[in-house]
Amino acid sequence: MMAALPSPSIWEIVSQAKIYLPTLNEDRISRAYDFAERAHSGQKRFSGEPYIIHPLNVAHLLLDFHPDEDTLVAALLHDVVEDTPHTLDEIEILFGKEVRNLCWGMEKLNKVRSKLNDQHVENLRKLFLAMAKDFRVVLLKLCDRLHNMKTLSFVRPDKQRRIAEETLNIYSPIAARLGIYRLKGDLEDLCFYYLEPAKYKNIQDQLVKTEKWRAQYIESAQKTLATILAAEGMRAKIDGRVKSIYSIYRKLRKKNKNFVQDIFDVFAMRIILPDIYKHEKEYTGHLYTALGIIHNHFTPLANRFKDYVAVPKVNSYRSLHTTVMGLGSKLYTQPTEIQIKTEGMHHAAEFGIAAHWIYEGMAKADFAVPFEEDEDTVSPSSPFLKQHQEWISGLHQIEQKISNNKEFLENLQIDMFQDRIFVLTPRGDVKDLPASATPIDFAYSVHTEIGNRCVGAKVNGNMVPLDHELKNGEVVEIITRKNARPSQQWLSFAKTNHARDRIRTWFRNLDVKKHLLEGKSLLNAKLAQLGKPLLDDRLSLLKTYGGGNLSMQEREDLLIEIGKGGIFPGAVVKNLFTREELLMSREEARIDRPARTIKQQKISKEPLLEIGNQENVAYQFVKCCNPEFVDGLVGYVTRGRGVSVHKEICSVLKNMEKTRLIPVRVLKENVLRTDGRTSGTTYSVSVRVEANDRVGLIRDISNAIAKNTINILKIDQGPSQKSIVTVFFLLEIGTVDQLERVLSDLEKVASVRRAMKVS
Ligand code: MN
Repeated sequence: MMAALPSPSIWEIVSQAKIYLPTLNEDRISRAYDFAERAHSGQKRFSGEPYIIHPLNVAHLLLDFHPDEDTLVAALLHDVVEDTPHTLDEIEILFGKEVRNLCWGMEKLNKVRSKLNDQHVENLRKLFLAMAKDFRVVLLKLCDRLHNMKTLSFVRPDKQRRIAEETLNIYSPIAARLGIYRLKGDLEDLCFYYLEPAKYKNIQDQLVKTEKWRAQYIESAQKTLATILAAEGMRAKIDGRVKSIYSIYRKLRKKNKNFVQDIFDVFAMRIILPDIYKHEKEYTGHLYTALGIIHNHFTPLANRFKDYVAVPKVNSYRSLHTTVMGLGSKLYTQPTEIQIKTEGMHHAAEFGIAAHWIYEGMAKADFAVPFEEDEDTVSPSSPFLKQHQEWISGLHQIEQKISNNKEFLENLQIDMFQDRIFVLTPRGDVKDLPASATPIDFAYSVHTEIGNRCVGAKVNGNMVPLDHELKNGEVVEIITRKNARPSQQWLSFAKTNHARDRIRTWFRNLDVKKHLLEGKSLLNAKLAQLGKPLLDDRLSLLKTYGGGNLSMQEREDLLIEIGKGGIFPGAVVKNLFTREELLMSREEARIDRPARTIKQQKISKEPLLEIGNQENVAYQFVKCCNPEFVDGLVGYVTRGRGVSVHKEICSVLKNMEKTRLIPVRVLKENVLRTDGRTSGTTYSVSVRVEANDRVGLIRDISNAIAKNTINILKIDQGPSQKSIVTVFFLLEIGTVDQLERVLSDLEKVASVRRAMKVS
């Protein structure tokens, strides 16, 4: 397996092909060979041999399947487009459309790559079959892979492993699916050799040791079987064969054994009977006759008889299998597996679907035992010898036959996957998507970020709109841009739930992020206004809030609520700080006169409120909305506790009886006279106002403060920079609401840029 294989010459290939294809255009084959040799000139295989030996070997391996002329040409040219500057168009001009299509198919299958541990291997197999609607391409590809496997010893070890795994995962199952057991066995043994060299060698050594004995046994069993069948008037070709090393390995593993002699089905005897046609129909009765004769002489093992003639395997494999005792007499006491099949069935098992066209055009010269015809039996060869067909017309017949056989079709054709499509990334990875999926679905199936940043798509190298419906086998390339974002419109054409879900999530997250940022900036603005330090990255300020500890998530949720407008930042600040913390300042010490404490007023001699047209009504300010003596109040007539005064906007009112609401008017003259000091302690708060200097600025600011019934204790003009002046006011303030309101009124004064408490 390690040595370079002798390579066939183009003339050997031509002469072998002419045996089954007398019409072969030798000139065309040799032109294809010359073209390929020139195209690959200078390129080397890993073995150091010129590259051309590869296409030559592929063509040679393909000969077993009796390819038509176009397929032979394509075998010689199959790597030209991939590995040299020549194009498919050139190939079409020189060798015609069919060859172009075959080469195109090969190039596409080259893009099918499997990842290790990829669970999508089954998809890859399906894709392989789906893309190769022309079976000739599959055969070509399998022969291509077989030659690459045969020369794998020249490749780097890590690559050997990857290629062997890929072959075992994709190529040999495809050969099995197509019933081409010869190729399947060859591929599997080669894979096994590279993947498990020690185990391979172990089994091989054991087989070598028993080779002589086995040859003796097979010869003796052959004679015995021939004798007993001949005694009943049956002619048969009998041979014995050792199973492939990989299948022996699998049997050992399945039965938990280490030694080849511990399992009895290391080899099988094969009885091949002639094809018999009765009334133009295939006859299989003689297989059962032979089976009966064998069972009459040797005891069959129970449960080992399989009738794949009456019930073929899904890949169309047909044969009778039985395992009997005593066939080897003294030489071998283990049971022996016997397969009984017709020549046609045997051929079909070797060549799979290809067997149909090879076999029907083939002479039966190699049939060892002459076959005697009787009246209603015809020789299997005679009707077919006459009609020497070109391979391709045979192929069309097969395809017609197949399309009438639903089961076979389902195992073979893409129709089975009508609701799925398989498309490729530019690197050759396969994506399994629902039919009519779009580049958007594809992009999200590759990676969420690819989807989110998608701005365009190319299919087979051409730009397509994002709602383009993808088709099987298309190579899709997604164009992304760093700052791109999904569009709501995508939801109208994305087909997969995955993509739709990702798009929706993106928009949901976008809102959340936006609200979080807005909430943060609103709260920071409020904190700045009230002279408090801003939020840090950990939002530590919100760590304790509303009497509890907030997790990071809860802190962010609070900011999101602020951003959405559900909570006012001022309300949050009032929850974070006490009134003292908000109104006291370091300036306190410099106040000219101490802040005054006045008595809380509920009913004043000088009434401050008019409630429902009366001035002397017992009332109380509620705690829910912190009302003060300013406009926008409303009363609620309680049962027995006088009138509760709320702000009109207080949310508590919503749930209260509307009929008990009563209008409240602030008697401003009286309020002004009491200096607005309505309850509790007042604080001297230093407020800083920045404004563009203008005539009358200080007057307007003073008016705005006075409107809020606030005393100005002191005014200091700070340094002015360019046209901007800073003015400090020391104000006598009773409540946080009052402070907030005056600050917001100050900011409404023309040319004022900002007004904030000095901390
Ligand atoms: Mn190749």
